Amino acid sequence: MSGTSLHTGEKVSLKLHPATVDHGIKFKRKDLPDEPIIDAKIDNLKMVERATTIGEGSVRVHTVEHVLAALSAMDVDNAIVEMDANEPPIGDGSAQPYVDLIKKAGVTAQEEPRQFFDVRESMHVESKTGALLVLLPCETFRISCTQAGPNNRFAQFLSMEITPATFEREIAPARTFVYYEDVQPLMEKNLIKGGSLENAIVVRGEAVLSKEPLRFADEFVRHKILDIIGDLALAGRRIRGHIVAVKPGHAANAELARALAREQTRRSAMSGSRAIPIGDAGLDTGEVMKILPHRYPFLMVDRVIGFEGENKITAVKCITINEPFFQGHFPGHPVMPGVMQVEAMAQVASLLLFKLTKTTNRIGYFMSADGVKFRKPVFPGDTMFIHAELTRSRGERMAKTKCYCVVNDAVVSEGELMFTFLDK
Ligand SMILES: [Zn+2]
Repeated sequence: MSGTSLHTGEKVSLKLHPATVDHGIKFKRKDLPDEPIIDAKIDNLKMVERATTIGEGSVRVHTVEHVLAALSAMDVDNAIVEMDANEPPIGDGSAQPYVDLIKKAGVTAQEEPRQFFDVRESMHVESKTGALLVLLPCETFRISCTQAGPNNRFAQFLSMEITPATFEREIAPARTFVYYEDVQPLMEKNLIKGGSLENAIVVRGEAVLSKEPLRFADEFVRHKILDIIGDLALAGRRIRGHIVAVKPGHAANAELARALAREQTRRSAMSGSRAIPIGDAGLDTGEVMKILPHRYPFLMVDRVIGFEGENKITAVKCITINEPFFQGHFPGHPVMPGVMQVEAMAQVASLLLFKLTKTTNRIGYFMSADGVKFRKPVFPGDTMFIHAELTRSRGERMAKTKCYCVVNDAVVSEGELMFTFLDK
């Protein structure tokens, strides 16, 4: 497609090329020597004023968010966006022209499965300007957005699941809008030479100025959602989660994309193997079962991996999809029941107490659980480290322990457990 670039007002043409698996979306500046390529990744973010600019070295590509939104929402993971200028054509200020282009070219499934970013726990970013973006677990990609202009003019709210179909119908046609007081200084500085009422809606006071009437009564919030999708495409992976956005902007969107990229890095570092000691340092399953009377499906300790002094113990339980409770908790959405984590804590605490008393002819009975908190869900494939510390004991009759379950270096549950000992 050809058109005008917003900032310079010059002619620009854009061409979408297919790309191989794991290529991602990259921009190619055909107008520069050696035709440099810029990866559409958050690490290359350069500017977030009014539009999103990425770059590598001295090469820049401005206003990438609308074409990125179209590619991402229309299910394109790999493509080269070739341009002969530093900015895509602005079109009508929406993502519609790019959607048309993608549909005209067609989309092909590639051999590798798509990688998703699954939101496991809530995350949020907040800016000084009042923007708030919260990311919540959700099985689909959903955006709920509140937009409000200066003095809360044009306050609008919309919540919807983003699929290629809903994007094309409800979001892609929504055009860029600007407030007159914001663009006037830019026009005076000659900064938006390509801007016109053909590619933007101008809001002046209560008046809405545009070449054509509003496409939706709530077109502004729809365009905000479009920008969120485009900016978050820089995170590099499709999101399965629910974004709740209040007064979002490019800066806050980019900050969330950065947080997502960081979390992805952290997760991939965590998935690496971790040495779990064997031998004298701990207790293997056989030794655990000599002390604990619990058996399948109720033995919640695979191995004790260490004692620290007389009062601390760490054990490990690998959570697999074969755990019997996953069949019913819940079908299609396996989450480890919190009470089973408390049971794991109790068993590990018992192992510590038995080691302390050096006797196995007694059995510890759970008396109370205080301050139990479930902080994060535990899924099949997680390795759960269970820590217990003796905090108080009264002879060989009663003991109090503080326990934590940890997955990927984050506390998933905790509680204070009290035991009494009775002869077997
Ligand atoms: Zn926009």
